[in-house]
Amino acid sequence: MLYDQHHRPLRNLRLSVTDRCNLRCSYCMPEPDYLWLPREDILQFEEIDRLTDLFIGLGVDKVRLTGGEPLLRRDLPDLVARLAQKPGLRDLALTTNGVLLAPAAAALKAAGLHRVTVSLDTLQADRFEALTRSNELGRVLEGIATAAPIFPGLKLDTVVMRGINDDELVPLMAFARHHGAEIRFIEYMDVGGATHWSPDRVVSRDEILAHLGAHYGPIVPVGKQDSAPADRYRLPDGTIFGIVSSTTAPFCAACDRSRLTADGQWFLCLYGSRGLDLRGPLRGGADDEAIAGALRGVWHARTDRGAEARLAAGHRGLIPVDSLRRDPHLEMHTRGG
Ligand code: SAM
Ligand code: SF4
Ligand code: SF4
Repeated sequence: MLYDQHHRPLRNLRLSVTDRCNLRCSYCMPEPDYLWLPREDILQFEEIDRLTDLFIGLGVDKVRLTGGEPLLRRDLPDLVARLAQKPGLRDLALTTNGVLLAPAAAALKAAGLHRVTVSLDTLQADRFEALTRSNELGRVLEGIATAAPIFPGLKLDTVVMRGINDDELVPLMAFARHHGAEIRFIEYMDVGGATHWSPDRVVSRDEILAHLGAHYGPIVPVGKQDSAPADRYRLPDGTIFGIVSSTTAPFCAACDRSRLTADGQWFLCLYGSRGLDLRGPLRGGADDEAIAGALRGVWHARTDRGAEARLAAGHRGLIPVDSLRRDPHLEMHTRGG
């Protein structure tokens, strides 16, 4: 196992397969237009496959496919099938906005995908439209209804924003329970792309617990799953849910994650400003040992604890929009969350 300077293992890889998206969520892609990664730079499945093998060789055993919207990537089940065959991968998951999930769910399951998480911030059509600048809520709900029986243990991720959707915690909880899904409420983060972020929009874990407790009665902590970022809780009726307190109580000390962008840049922290270019060596004929050696060196030197640093700095100084416009790699939709 490979450890960094805080004794954090390299274990969890978020694989972004595209930076394109069919939604425009206000906390991720609020701008009217974006600088997209050049198509010729997007890694082919063979290239992703080879890099994944190198990561597995260094200790990665969990991969999450993300984006942008990963289901926009044509033939995604083919990539899933390649990855699912790797004995070293203990967990193969997908995070999606759900718009294209209903027609894809069965093929993804057949290809060997283990788990699915759908992002869902509201159940109200007008709000969905205001939040995502699209009217696809119906297709998202259909995606969840279709995928829930195919992927037992389906998860729903909800970014909670004050004055926007913080009055929907109970309806969203009920919706998740109805589908046998586990919901996770995520604190709004000041990541690249979240140019409308402000501290007063953040609904903290404590507030979320107080709100739910007032409705349901006493809530009991049940501990985390593995190195997952969510703290998990149980309602009096036994329903389990999670809260990801990335903003008010970050979990950087246990962070085992890194992210590969669709064009082959390897980023560690979500807040990191530079990644390691893997596409260049990959396409330039570097052998496996050379690439693995570079990965080893970067992880070994890792010291970043981005969300803790943001908290300590009082969340001052979002990445300026001009910088985001110049470098798509700084954006949440390129990093894959
Ligand atoms: N498009 C897919 C989706 O939305 O599920 C996958 C990519 S998206 C970048 C991954 C996750 O990042 C989503 O669950 C989204 O809600 C989350 N996210 C994006 N911006 C965020 C922010 N400012 N704060 C908290 N979570 C955010
Ligand atoms: Fe929304 Fe995900 Fe698309 Fe970002 S990448 S705009 S979070 S659907
Ligand atoms: Fe890991 Fe960075 Fe997120 Fe902290 S902010 S948990 S170090 S990715």
